[in-house]
This record gives sequence, C-alpha cells and structure tokens, in this order.
Amino acid sequence: MKKATKFLTMTLAMVMTVCTLTACGGGAAKGNTITFGTNAEFPPFEYVTSSGVIGEYDGIDMAIAKQIAESNGMTATMENMEFDSLLVALQNGQIDAVIAGMTATDERRETVDFSTPYYTATQVMIVREDSDITAATDMADKKICVIQGYTGEICVQDMGYSYEAFKKGTEAVMELVNGKCDVVVIDSATAQKYVGDNEGLKIVEDPGAFESEEYAIAVQKGNTELLDKINSAIDKMLADGTINELAVKYTEEVTAE
Ligand code: GLN
Repeated sequence: MKKATKFLTMTLAMVMTVCTLTACGGGAAKGNTITFGTNAEFPPFEYVTSSGVIGEYDGIDMAIAKQIAESNGMTATMENMEFDSLLVALQNGQIDAVIAGMTATDERRETVDFSTPYYTATQVMIVREDSDITAATDMADKKICVIQGYTGEICVQDMGYSYEAFKKGTEAVMELVNGKCDVVVIDSATAQKYVGDNEGLKIVEDPGAFESEEYAIAVQKGNTELLDKINSAIDKMLADGTINELAVKYTEEVTAE
C-alpha cells in the first residue's frame, strides 16, 4: 500500500515536471489544436451528419481541415456558427482559422489573410424547370433570393437588383420550390446539391455575368506561423490530387443521399 502511494506520488511528480516543461494544460492543448470556424450549411463543403470526419461535421472542407491539422502533427476542432459571424470570431481570437467555402475577396482581404486557394467555383442561378430565366439580366424583374453575407448577395447587389436575403441556403431554396421567389443565386457545387435534392429545379449558368471565385482558408492578419502550416498542407494536397479526390467523393456522396 505504502509502495503504491509512493509510486503514485512519484508518477504525479514526473507528470507535473513534464507539464511544466511542455506547458501542459490549456496552453498546450491550444498549441496543438487548430480551432476552425465554419458554417455547416453548405454541402458538399460542410454539413452536419451523425458521424462526420470532425465530430458531427463532414464535407470537403472538413476533410481538408482534418488533414491540415494532422499533417502538422496537430488536431482540428470545429466551431459551427453563422457565416456572417465567422470573420468577427476570427478577429477576436475565438477561432484560429475559417474554412467555409469562403471566397477570397479583396474586401475580406482588408481584414484577414487568406491561404493558397484550394477550389474554384462560380455563382449560378437556381430556377424552377419552367423558368424563362436564361441569363443574369433576366433577373431584373424577378424576385431574387440570396443568402446573407455570401458572395452571391454581393453579386446581385453589384448588378443593382433588389433581393431578399435568407440565413440559410435551404430556406432560400424552399422559397423557390414554393413559388415565393423566382431565382436563388448561390455557389455552383452547393446549387447542384439543392437541385439534386428537390424536384423541379434546374441550374442556369452565366459565366459572363458571374466571375469565377476561389475558396481559401482565412487566418488573422499577420498570423504567418499558422498560414505557413496551412499552405504547406494545401500545396501537398493539391499536388497529390487529394483535394480533387475529396471534391469528387463528396459531390457524389451528397448528391446520391
Ligand atoms: N463562397 C461564398 C462566399 O464566400 C459562400 C460561402 C458559404 O456559404 N459558405 O460568400
């Protein structure tokens, strides 16, 4: 009994010494973890499921986040929040990085730094199958739905059209299905998912009106230490085809659901 107590005491002392040396506890956990923020309302990039790659979160971005952390010997955790809150949460240090199918725009670059782009997308129009919309200019006299804070909203704003903004893509698509709006402007891969999920919808593209967009991961301005880690992992995943494979896998999976 005495021996056991002594052994325990020694073990505890050793653990404590190691902890002091490596700054265990809150500090070390943070040091070895990348806390990503996302908005898990954007399939196939991020969505909630029963068993995801990071907790309940799954999708292309979630798999990328996990690999970024692992290839740096770290762990990824995910915080789910509204898309509009992501950059604020990043700036006030609640999260270390944003991975959310986020387009690297010049406006966002004023407040955050972006990684190497990992995916190219474009805005498209989702309409009902019987719609007469064939180009972006046809939206002029139509009821347009967008999602708040997405680049789709900015595009429609720049075109000078009035619109209604929703918090979630699914809400905007429901308005369209129910005939309460005529067109939803949203990113291409997510549009494909919604068209696959709902009868009677189709996608109209207008590459002349919508420029291509590049998705990238955002970090706090000047956080080169984390940005270098993220970029080295992304460069590797782009070079060896991992990101391409993930995009194909999740696009097929999510569409087949
Ligand atoms: N790519 C769009 C943007 O950056 C939409 C991203 C998203 O909804 N997750 O605004």
